[in-house]
Amino acid sequence: MSVTSATEFSLINQFFTDLTPPRDDVFLGTGDDCALLNPSPNQMIAVSIDTLIEGVHFFADVNPIHLGHKALAVNLSDLAAMGATPAWFTLALSLPKFDQAWLAEFSNGLGLLAKQHNIQLVGGDTTRGPLTISIQVHGHVAAEKSLLRSAAKVGDWICVTGTLGDAAAALQLKLGTLQADTLTEADMAFLIDRLEKPTPRNTIGLALAGEAHAAIDISDGLLADLQHILAASDVGGCLDLTKLPFSSAMQKLPVHTAQNLALTGGDDYELCFTAAAETALMLSEQFPGMIQPIGEIIEQTGLFYQNTTGEKTAFESIKAGYDHFA
Ligand code: ADP
Ligand code: MG
Repeated sequence: MSVTSATEFSLINQFFTDLTPPRDDVFLGTGDDCALLNPSPNQMIAVSIDTLIEGVHFFADVNPIHLGHKALAVNLSDLAAMGATPAWFTLALSLPKFDQAWLAEFSNGLGLLAKQHNIQLVGGDTTRGPLTISIQVHGHVAAEKSLLRSAAKVGDWICVTGTLGDAAAALQLKLGTLQADTLTEADMAFLIDRLEKPTPRNTIGLALAGEAHAAIDISDGLLADLQHILAASDVGGCLDLTKLPFSSAMQKLPVHTAQNLALTGGDDYELCFTAAAETALMLSEQFPGMIQPIGEIIEQTGLFYQNTTGEKTAFESIKAGYDHFA
């Protein structure tokens, strides 16, 4: 039961009913007690939910178009990391007040990204309360093609998509904790865009399905997220820090700052995956400039980096080292 009035409810209907592309596998979308969906035979349904809360996940002054984009993007990113094809989503909105202009912009950002990924909004809930956005996504993947965190194999290359640390740099710029003298206005705009409008890597995720071994999307920083793969697969990892992919804006920061942001900063929504060397090479040819090998899966558990003389060091010590630079 929603707490909005009848007029408000019809306006919400206006914003959310025809927002997203209609799909053949939706028998009944928004408007009834439940949506009725027709899943593909022989496919698993991949399900994931993520919530964004004002003051925790975004600033109160964020552009609502970007917020609509990001609320769906972070969920699409989970489908990408599973190798799943997006299909449907539901939207639970808690709004402090009924702001028609805000809703128009929010739904705009949401709808544009939904169209790009052919994912249909099939239901939701609208309540009054602190600004909170929950989206649950559903996708399809054949069980044997899904990208489990537990599937990394010794000898696999560890790869990442895109560039790392941009979103974390933007957050520090906004908080005033990052020296920005070396950055141009354009660099800063680029970094803020990466924070507010992340690009979910669904095309690459689909290409990884059935080809790569383990995958995860990087939402909490490379070290934390890669650690999930290593723990689930009962293996270790060794990184070459000189291979971390940086945007041209990040390359203007001191190298230790850039590395620290890439390793421990969040919100990148790039993919980290492991694959046999020949598969990794095939994938990087398929997506030129978008896939970077950064290390290798090893038998010894733990996460290490290799220095120029080939010596392995556990990450605990380098993290402590980074604190001095911060
Ligand atoms: P109920 O009282 O049965 O929970 P609601 O009044 O919450 O029903 O919702 C009525 C219909 O509108 C449902 O089909 C629901 O899925 C849809 N709906 C409500 N809020 C949203 C929203 N934010 N986005 C999409 N659909 C919504
Ligand atoms: Mg309801």
